[in-house]
Amino acid sequence: MIQRDASTISLWQGNIEPFQSTLIADHMATYDVIIVGGGITGLTTALLLQEAGKRCLLLEANNIGFGTTGGTTAHLNTILDTSYAQIEKNFSKEDAGLVRESVGAAIGLIQQNIERFSIDCGFDYTDAYLFAQDEKQTEALDIIAKSAREEGVNITLQDQLPVPFNFTKAYKIAGQARFNPLAYIYGLARAFENAGGIIVQDCRVIEIHNTNHIKVDTTIGEFTGMNIVYATHVPPGINLVHLRCVPYRSYALAVRLADNAYPAELIYDMHEPYHYFRTQEVNGKKYLIAGGEDHQTGHHENTEQCFRNLEALVRAHFKVKSVDYKWSSQFYESADGLPYIGNMPGQPDNVYVATGFGGNGMVYSGVAAMVIRNIIMGKHRATEKLFNPNRIKPIAGFTNFVTHNADVVKLFFGKLFPAHKLAELAEMAPGEAQVVNYDGHRVALYKDDEGMLHAVNPVCTHMKCEVGWNSAERSWDCPCHGARYDADGKVLNTPADRDLEHLDISHDTSKVEAHEQF
Ligand SMILES: Cc1cc2nc3c(=O)[nH]c(=O)nc-3n(C[C@H](O)[C@H](O)[C@H](O)COP(=O)(O)OP(=O)(O)OC[C@H]3O[C@@H](n4cnc5c(N)ncnc54)[C@H](O)[C@@H]3O)c2cc1C
Repeated sequence: MIQRDASTISLWQGNIEPFQSTLIADHMATYDVIIVGGGITGLTTALLLQEAGKRCLLLEANNIGFGTTGGTTAHLNTILDTSYAQIEKNFSKEDAGLVRESVGAAIGLIQQNIERFSIDCGFDYTDAYLFAQDEKQTEALDIIAKSAREEGVNITLQDQLPVPFNFTKAYKIAGQARFNPLAYIYGLARAFENAGGIIVQDCRVIEIHNTNHIKVDTTIGEFTGMNIVYATHVPPGINLVHLRCVPYRSYALAVRLADNAYPAELIYDMHEPYHYFRTQEVNGKKYLIAGGEDHQTGHHENTEQCFRNLEALVRAHFKVKSVDYKWSSQFYESADGLPYIGNMPGQPDNVYVATGFGGNGMVYSGVAAMVIRNIIMGKHRATEKLFNPNRIKPIAGFTNFVTHNADVVKLFFGKLFPAHKLAELAEMAPGEAQVVNYDGHRVALYKDDEGMLHAVNPVCTHMKCEVGWNSAERSWDCPCHGARYDADGKVLNTPADRDLEHLDISHDTSKVEAHEQF
């Protein structure tokens, strides 16, 4: 099994072995393009550029699929979370058409890759159903349907649903698709290596120095490139782009059914946030995947309740034999409903970013790969302007920089905390966590299943907000920009690129007292 940025295990993650890279990177070489991030965006971009004749190096901080690509639910849609009506309103009718064309091309690219590289990832085209359950939802659904039809989506009114839900109105959308995302990106990774590309896992990019060439500082030394693509879902450091992206947690279940009534189609309700249901066969077993219950990262007191709500909804409509997987993951909404793809704001022209995909990153990753490939290859298309991250209005006094917050100091360096005093402050059962006041400072405490205390400084290393506990994932999540850390403060999600300060705890009172005398 591979690691993910979470303590829950996703259906995809639980059914795959770690990817083994076969080629070794050269610290002395100058790569044409260095791609940061081994999710679907990084791997698709890397493959397209390598095939276009560029010498590419892909650096992944953990393992391939560690990020949201390992925790997605992998629908491939031309009906998007931002309706075509909304895109028309925020941009123009012509732009809505361009988005429709781009996402269609992205699904085509996935199908083509699967065929060309014989990737066994359970891909197939299927219909989707979108249904409303009250008057307000019906109105919203009609707007979505009308604008989608105008953009050439094959959407038709239905008087039946393939699942047992009450509804006021329902539409069928043809030509949607689904697949196993990790099986797919492993296929891309192999194709990239076969084309001469290099993948390095367990290699975190720390900082870049952009002079003549880009010098990339990583946890395993320096690499040099002519261009760099941040395919890290949001870029690390502080940049206007992620100040314009709102992070959300989203929840999913994979269940086995007692009566084999697995829907062949993709099903979506119209709640805010919406729920969805679909089937996928993985390693010879069928699963019903259900998802939803989204909320802004760090803004939900009881994240385990999200799983309970979702499970109750599934059980109310399906005969559940077993709940085999429960997981959550993170996505980022852009301010205007379209992703930011292209040159990173405030950076030289050879620094690229792809972010703000919302719940459509499986297709927008393909759009991003094609847009960035075209820019680097000097082919300028209308999509370059449409998705340009520099459409974000600058904020007065804000200086863009892709670096860490140099201001974060080690507040507790050399201090030893007495375990018994901390335990008195926070009465916690195993598995629980709290942020407490100790000696004039805020301390984030977690008691593990064996009763051991883990303590970190709760100040997020990104922009100094205070992190809060996410009980479903046993992680410290930042409510400001979505940085996440494990119980020991290790970075799980950008934009943070530095761990939380780890605090030393001692159970030996005399040791603490001796320490305090210095
Ligand atoms: C629950 C859920 C369900 C979803 N369902 C769908 C769906 O059905 N259809 C759809 O289209 N979209 C869906 N999405 C959205 C989609 O999954 C994401 O947009 C997509 O997976 C993002 O892929 P990515 O490659 O850009 O980022 P990620 O998969 O997050 O990859 C980023 C990678 O960058 C690495 N990284 C980060 N920092 C560094 C660094 N400094 N150095 C090196 N590496 C670094 C990380 O370790 C990670 O592996 C869903 C999202 C969620 C949360």
